Amino acid sequence: MYDGDTVVGSEGSVDGDEIGSEDDSVKRRASDPSLPSSNPTKSYWQDSPPFPHLDTSPDDTPARADVVIIGSGMTAAGVALSFLPLMASKGKAPVVFVAEARKICSGATARNAGHINIAPYRVENAKALKELGSVYPLAEVREFETVHLHHDREEFEKDKASLEDLRQKYPQYEVEVLGGNEVKTYANSPAWGAISHRAGSFRPVHFVTSIWDDLRGQCPNLRISINNPVEDITITTSSSHPYSVTFSRGTLQARHVVHATDSHATHLLPGLEPGLTGNLMHMLAQIPGAGFPKCEGTRSWTLRFGDNYYNVIQRPDMPYEDGKCGDC
Ligand SMILES: Cc1cc2nc3c(=O)[nH]c(=O)nc-3n(C[C@H](O)[C@H](O)[C@H](O)COP(=O)(O)OP(=O)(O)OC[C@H]3O[C@@H](n4cnc5c(N)ncnc54)[C@H](O)[C@@H]3O)c2cc1C
Repeated sequence: MYDGDTVVGSEGSVDGDEIGSEDDSVKRRASDPSLPSSNPTKSYWQDSPPFPHLDTSPDDTPARADVVIIGSGMTAAGVALSFLPLMASKGKAPVVFVAEARKICSGATARNAGHINIAPYRVENAKALKELGSVYPLAEVREFETVHLHHDREEFEKDKASLEDLRQKYPQYEVEVLGGNEVKTYANSPAWGAISHRAGSFRPVHFVTSIWDDLRGQCPNLRISINNPVEDITITTSSSHPYSVTFSRGTLQARHVVHATDSHATHLLPGLEPGLTGNLMHMLAQIPGAGFPKCEGTRSWTLRFGDNYYNVIQRPDMPYEDGKCGDC
């Protein structure tokens, strides 16, 4: 969805839907999320896909597969990366069929802000992501400092108080509390105070499609089928391949099925309702104005207003192929 020179990415149970009233939101959460839209909005990260060949797939469907992975976003790529190289190192080449309803990596992963919030319990995740960033340089994985600018005094005091507990549980986790004029070194903001810690950022589509491209090169039995939504799964009497998976372009029998469908999960797994619901969120990409702090991609900001918050992440000032230097 384009709005002037602002590019919008959004994802939720209904793609490109209006936010609507609170009642609408409750109704949407309680309803079947349906299959992903066949005509989704295009997000900022999808502007210049680095591996366009991943969006062409053979029409044939194998009769059987060891694993069917539904979806091709971050979760699906993480699952494939966690077992395919391991199997290959043992001389095994399982048949893996990835079925994606839309283009490769076109769900929430393609529409998010690319922020890596290094919470204390996610330090190892962030480390792993950084290591993968050196394997997949197009992903632009970066570590930097983030600052939470608190505009609500009560909320600031509450967050400050909770840091004591955090410091005791995770003494290695470094968090700094800033007040008064110190805040001005981060942003010209009327904030009461700020809390800063390490964080990071990456280009999600480039990251995930780099993984798929790499795995496709390494694993001859990995098939990725795009524009091919899974419509139904039934359980059969077969002891080796008990799942019969129906796609828009065929049916196959599978030993295992991995659901990596995020906000659409309850369409195929209605038993997960109402515990699992989609959430409509938005990301904007903008060329910053002249007064915006120029940090060359070395900082992110979270503007906190009570329960609401906005993240701002700046890309490095580097001439990327999409020509959008320093976008936020
Ligand atoms: C606007 C926004 C901003 C966000 N910002 C951040 C952030 O800064 N940092 C962060 O860590 N997280 C962020 N998130 C959350 C993060 O993006 C998601 O948690 C993550 O991308 C989920 O990945 P996934 O692979 O599980 O799902 P997805 O990327 O949504 O992938 C699911 C895929 O399954 C496909 N699919 C669904 N149903 C079917 C079917 N029946 N058959 C075939 N295919 C199907 C979809 O087309 C989709 O491609 C944000 C999310 C949004 C929406």
